[in-house]
Amino acid sequence: MKKNILFLLSLVSIFTLAQEKTIIHCGKFVDVENGTILENIYISIINDKIENVSKIKLTVSDTDVFIDLSQKMVMPGLIDMHVHLEHETSAKQYIEEFTLNDADIAYKSLAYAKKTLNAGFTSVRDLGGTNVNISLRNAIDNGLVDGPRVFTAGKSIATTGGHADPTNGYRSDLMGNPGPKQGVVNGVDDCIKAVRQRYKDGSDLIKITASGGVLSVAKSGENAQFTIQEIKAIVSTANDYGFKVAAHCHGEEAMKRAVIGGVHSIEHGTYMSEEIMKLMKERGTYLVPTVTAGKAVGLFAKIPNYYPDLVVPKALEIGPKIQNTFARAYRYGVKIAFGTDAGVFIHGDNWKEFIYMNEVGMPFMEILKTATINASDLLGQSSMLGTIEKGKFADIIAVDGDPTIDINQMGKITFVMKGGKIYKSE
Ligand SMILES: [Zn+2]
Repeated sequence: MKKNILFLLSLVSIFTLAQEKTIIHCGKFVDVENGTILENIYISIINDKIENVSKIKLTVSDTDVFIDLSQKMVMPGLIDMHVHLEHETSAKQYIEEFTLNDADIAYKSLAYAKKTLNAGFTSVRDLGGTNVNISLRNAIDNGLVDGPRVFTAGKSIATTGGHADPTNGYRSDLMGNPGPKQGVVNGVDDCIKAVRQRYKDGSDLIKITASGGVLSVAKSGENAQFTIQEIKAIVSTANDYGFKVAAHCHGEEAMKRAVIGGVHSIEHGTYMSEEIMKLMKERGTYLVPTVTAGKAVGLFAKIPNYYPDLVVPKALEIGPKIQNTFARAYRYGVKIAFGTDAGVFIHGDNWKEFIYMNEVGMPFMEILKTATINASDLLGQSSMLGTIEKGKFADIIAVDGDPTIDINQMGKITFVMKGGKIYKSE
């Protein structure tokens, strides 16, 4: 009998725990979908999901947690579609390829993940590192460490000598012969195998380096590095496994092949012609601009010995062009998803992309849409992320000021909630 009562009591307490409710009073509430700011909105949250969003004041019972954001502007958690959580720029970064163990990388990535979440980015897409960031994603998902929701490509797929060949620029006896397992492919069969390897590793999506890149120790920052057949093989295999494909791309020919080959997003897009914009618009391909990284590499390249000699002219040439590319693509009507390439600059500065996008004519409300609704669409997560709506994850942030008047407010996030848990409250 006693046992039964205890059992019942424990059931009651589990039930009570499971029903713990949080109610937030939002002084101002950004309705991203309609591009408007509402006043006095109430959000109720049960566990990690939004139960209700109401214009009518919700009653707060004794057991409910009440959060007063009546003096703040509340908006959905931000999503950065292009980060590298395993690294952060420094003059030592090229040497560190030889000195850091996976465990070192893992500990560093914890700090970077935390900075990112504190800046209001409740979800990120990691576009390439090692399998360490698959472990990072799992540790965050399991609540062991604090960080944003991570959707990761694992290791990027490159061709021999191409951007993201992991032994690019090494002394010849150290170069080895990396293959599909290490994310280096040549020919259609390798491409299929490399995608399947990412599935086996536990990646969430596929990243390819369709053209040369700025920071790889190689001559060209823009040449085409995959054949159209290789890109098509990657995209069709990715489709079999439910992966989306992101293509790093600066050069025009590479970009054309990537878009025609069916990738879901072009990253950077530096030398985008009008013909490509037209193709992207027709096919619904997203551009992820990464203006912040472009600006950063242009500046770092002026510091003596910060980058290897081969990298400097590429950084000076390509970096400063990216903001203008974004402006042209935006005016043309290409779909944009917010992404910064954080790691190429300091993690936590992701918000600066708001400034740079705004500088060339995109209003705050539209930028916010690229960092919420559009980003969740490109992730394939629209049902759970991107808006503060019934049934979605309670990923909610707030600022004290008004970013529609002063865009710098996006660098002063004072409240961060992810999955109903508060990570920052100032
Ligand atoms: Zn990148």
